[in-house]
Amino acid sequence: MSARILVVDDIETNRCLLEARLSAEYFDVIEAEDGHKAIEAAREHNPDLILLDVMMPGIDGFETCRRLKADPALRHIPVVMVTALDQREDRIKGLEAGADEFLTKPVDDVALFARVRSLLRLKVVMDELRLRENAEALEKDADTLGGRIVVAAADEAGAQRIAAMYGDPFRAKACADPLNALRHALTADLVVIDLTHARFDGLRLAARIRSDVDTRQVPILGIVESDNRASMVRALDLGVTDVILRPVDPGELQARSRTQVRRKAYADALRDRLEESLEMAVTDALTGLHNRRYIVSRLRQHLDVLDRSGEGFAVALMDIDHFKRINDTFGHQAGDVVLKGFSDRLRKELRAVDIAGRYGGEEFLVLFTGATNEEALEGAERFRAAMARDPFVVPGTDEPINVTVSAGISAGERGDDVEDVVARADAALYEAKSSGRNQVIAWRKRAA
Ligand code: GH3
Ligand code: MG
Ligand code: MG
Repeated sequence: MSARILVVDDIETNRCLLEARLSAEYFDVIEAEDGHKAIEAAREHNPDLILLDVMMPGIDGFETCRRLKADPALRHIPVVMVTALDQREDRIKGLEAGADEFLTKPVDDVALFARVRSLLRLKVVMDELRLRENAEALEKDADTLGGRIVVAAADEAGAQRIAAMYGDPFRAKACADPLNALRHALTADLVVIDLTHARFDGLRLAARIRSDVDTRQVPILGIVESDNRASMVRALDLGVTDVILRPVDPGELQARSRTQVRRKAYADALRDRLEESLEMAVTDALTGLHNRRYIVSRLRQHLDVLDRSGEGFAVALMDIDHFKRINDTFGHQAGDVVLKGFSDRLRKELRAVDIAGRYGGEEFLVLFTGATNEEALEGAERFRAAMARDPFVVPGTDEPINVTVSAGISAGERGDDVEDVVARADAALYEAKSSGRNQVIAWRKRAA
């Protein structure tokens, strides 16, 4: 679906002009001719972005922006204020009214589409977060995050001049050496690069930041000459996120920086959340081992490989002996500590290619990849012996706790379902339990 843009201007020709250019890029355009109608249209059509003229009869652009940003249902819609050229005061007022971006009249296509796309990308991320209902907390986070900013320019004095334009909550660091800038970019929320000096290859620095895995998420704000459209286009092509024209206006610099820093904060939060939920889906919270679902899916995978290529594996189903007694004697919390310690030891004892998961309460399943029954038996036996040798020391009790484990082994067989392998290992485990515990037994076909 294409993005919907609300164009607000009291002059019809201005609206038509913008409408034509945006429609040509497949944006869906709605129009409003004054502030009140703009707010109404925003409520009704839920646009993805608002292009807002400043000079309008009735309530002007600033007041309209203030009202939009004061309404919880509308404040997430990015607002681009369209100001007359070089009206520094307007930009400051726009900033205070909560505008996300500025464009100067006459609106240049490159600048228009660069800004519209950048804000739409931001909005996609924000909407995604809002769906997860934590947008408000995140918005606060992003606001209080401040921003570590690196300013890279041809010389120290030039970089300092730009860095000095930043006030609270930004912290700007001036760098005249590209390698130094690259190093600081690793921990930066935004890199500002002066692209106006022949002596300083800012575009190369921008390309490096964009291509390095450790910095490719960091937004870049490029400073370009106002009469050099070619360099502006090239900068945006090379991955510069946004551009600002020389002479640099401190208000505009901070507004653009704020947008980029917020956008990065949202994107980072989203990525973290995603990683966390992916992790949670495969990990057991108490022990840090894989969970049952994961280990079963890997088992299924190995059975497929076995059927196709004959490459085998074996599993060990392990169960802690008399675990209930540990709980009963030392308390449930001590039991948890033992489960965790047991899992840590299991992880340490296994080869890197083996996969261990928590199968149930105090039951664990280990998949020995490429192993025969005998090899798995050896591996599990080594672990059993280590467990029996070293008792656990648990906080709150001086008494060392002896923990032993029983295990049943079964190799995967062609044509098996997951349940088949596990059932054989379980039968062997039952035998280990009933014949005295603290031992490992491999499943064997009984002579019928
Ligand atoms: P056996 O040698 O026959 O395996 O005896 P057992 O006591 O280990 O076996 P049983 O299945 O009777 O008891 C297992 C106990 O493990 C019961 C349950 O309360 C406890 N348990 C299961 N999950 C957890 C957990 O996450 N934390 C703690 N502390 N205990 C757990
Ligand atoms: Mg048990
Ligand atoms: Mg049990």
